[in-house]
Amino acid sequence: MMSEANSKFEFSDHIITYKLNNGMYAVYNNLYTIPVFMDENDLIRIKNNYIDAVEKDILSRSIIITSKDNDLAYISNIKDFYNSKCNKYEYVMFMLTRKCNLKCDYCIEKTNTKDFGNYYISKDVIDCFFENVKNKKIQLEKDATIIFYGGEPLLNIGMIKYILDFKNDFPDFKFTIVTNGTLLSEDIIDLFIENKVNIAVSIDGDRTITNSHRKFKKDMS
Ligand code: SF4
Repeated sequence: MMSEANSKFEFSDHIITYKLNNGMYAVYNNLYTIPVFMDENDLIRIKNNYIDAVEKDILSRSIIITSKDNDLAYISNIKDFYNSKCNKYEYVMFMLTRKCNLKCDYCIEKTNTKDFGNYYISKDVIDCFFENVKNKKIQLEKDATIIFYGGEPLLNIGMIKYILDFKNDFPDFKFTIVTNGTLLSEDIIDLFIENKVNIAVSIDGDRTITNSHRKFKKDMS
């Protein structure tokens, strides 16, 4: 295929690259949710901006952008769309940490660890959020669901307890945690039963399939 260096294009920051068993790569933009499949040579070539007109047309609808502003504009459009559709939010997701005790081979977080690997949400963010809910700057449904998410949210169990204390002010709020399940203890399960926290455990299939993708990290420092 004829291709020429084109300095106007770059990969979006929202790209996830995943190597498949057959040696091909699935390249996926988590904004547009359209995977593109290519071999390693094409991946390197496109990353280096060697691209022809047909590819330019196809890939500009998925994984390449002309400027970071393209992504920001797309995110802004999504926000405007949802703001125009809903007056009140039914779900709020708190990313409590991006850390995890596992290293699943498909994890999107591992591509972000350069900048956010040690991210833990702060109490200031939580306080600010609930303050804005109280003064109606953020409009939530009376029985909105708060979702604890990560990384592995149980690595920030202190913040989960802190958030659950806001139940006194918002008794109809519901709570759900999305966890890999490996850090669940009896104490934590008792806490979740007491506070009616729904538990969603992520698995990939049967034991063999799940264990083939999900490994423990040796070093959690
Ligand atoms: S359990 Fe989730 S956050 Fe942790 S490595 Fe696996 S996919 Fe990533």
